[in-house]
Amino acid sequence: TEQTLGRLAEESWGRFDDHDATFYEGVWHRHHALAERARRMCGGFAAAGIRPGDRVVVMMANSPEVPLIYQALWAAGAVVTPVVFLVGVEELRHILHDSGAAAIVTSPELEETVRAAAVDIPVHVDTTELERASEHGAVRRDPGDLAALMYTGGTTGKAKGVMLSHRGLWQVGKDAWDMSHQEGKNRAIVPVPLSHAYGLIISVASMHATEPQQAVLMRWFDPKAFLELAAEQRVQYGTVVPAMLQMLLAEPLESHPLPDLSFLTCGAAPLGKDLLEEFERRMPGVQILEGYGLTETSAVTTFNPPGRRRIGSVGLPLPGYSITIRDGAGEAMEIGDVGEICVSGESLMLGYWGDHETDPDGTALVGDELRTGDIGCVDDDGYLYIVDRKKDLIIRGGFNVFPRDVEDALNQHPDVVMSGVVGRPEPRIGEEVVAFVQLKPGSTATAEELIEWARDRVGRVKYPREIRFADTIPVTSVLKLDRKALRALLT
Ligand code: ATP
Repeated sequence: TEQTLGRLAEESWGRFDDHDATFYEGVWHRHHALAERARRMCGGFAAAGIRPGDRVVVMMANSPEVPLIYQALWAAGAVVTPVVFLVGVEELRHILHDSGAAAIVTSPELEETVRAAAVDIPVHVDTTELERASEHGAVRRDPGDLAALMYTGGTTGKAKGVMLSHRGLWQVGKDAWDMSHQEGKNRAIVPVPLSHAYGLIISVASMHATEPQQAVLMRWFDPKAFLELAAEQRVQYGTVVPAMLQMLLAEPLESHPLPDLSFLTCGAAPLGKDLLEEFERRMPGVQILEGYGLTETSAVTTFNPPGRRRIGSVGLPLPGYSITIRDGAGEAMEIGDVGEICVSGESLMLGYWGDHETDPDGTALVGDELRTGDIGCVDDDGYLYIVDRKKDLIIRGGFNVFPRDVEDALNQHPDVVMSGVVGRPEPRIGEEVVAFVQLKPGSTATAEELIEWARDRVGRVKYPREIRFADTIPVTSVLKLDRKALRALLT
């Protein structure tokens, strides 16, 4: 098969008999109707002057149209540039300018932001106009051509475009599908944003499906709505991030039995053994399957396959990837040693858009290997364990402090909803450990008490010397702790 996403989309449009395919805001949409809309959109993009290789920004909240727009753009040969609907005018303007976008597709409620940022390119507000075109099939593309340009690292400073190829996304989508799919489990709940790499790869993986799939799509995650939808639509599996599991734990799970639900894939941020175990204890019958990846690896690098998972590990590399752990000098390390996680394989990004060598986090391609900036180790059987991120490391008086250790300790405190730990520059000792803490409503824990709690758990070197209480802890579109935003709050 030709490993291009346009061809894959076209195959998936015709693959199955008609069936309910996507549930969204109370309505099931059927497979054939969606496929026809995607074909028309493809014609619509061609008629609107979109040519192979053109970058087209898609800025929309989750809706049934989003995967269709991706498919239509791939079939038209264009490069999908998804942007989370939460971005502001300035960041959007940067992305439009940097990518040289030929057009932007958005939804009516975002029109104002988009018009303010998109000065001289066509804006498609919703897809009705595009869908008036006649149906169109896929144009030829090369597997090595650019399929997606995904902006990352944009919380502060300028986001950089990660160039992903048709081949890479095709392959990772297929491997992720093969590694996670369980026969007969075809109805998924999807609360993650389709504009994030995690959501993009879900969109690609589902095109590889070998049985008719049903997606219960959420516009935005909400724990109560998740539980209600999952029960009402009898979902069998789902795709989540750790913060969603955390938020679900605050609900009375025992009174929401989900007998049909058998597994949840989880990734994008540190999960932690305690959270996994507590969730599985409170929701018996559901397995959490953790994976790990970066936008730069076409979203997924490792995954814990059902039946072979190791709790605490982020799993085994996808068949197309291999992992080397390297020390500070770049030398390969032994099994079990902790160092920088480096990834090689055909599905890595082609590079950063423009002439950038690294992203603001320090992630970089060195030769044909990706230095991820993540720190971890591999066990005898090849399972990967993540310790933390290199750039988040705090060096206090010459001692290494991994913020994750401190956060894990604080998060175990009964009054704490969430914490985020960063280093504040401090001339005498290098950096001081500062913790931002969000308390549960009505709780009375004091800074002294939390400091003592953390000191008892992480020891006298690493404990936070300063606690700052916050109403909310800033998070990204996949509800990941936004450390850049926290650092900005320090000054
Ligand atoms: P942004 O684009 O907002 O700067 P980012 O730099 O985190 O976000 P992503 O590509 O979305 O970019 O995230 C990749 C990073 O997410 C990895 O480098 C790793 O640090 C983290 N990550 C992903 N999965 C896991 C996991 N299972 N456990 C721990 N960390 C994870």
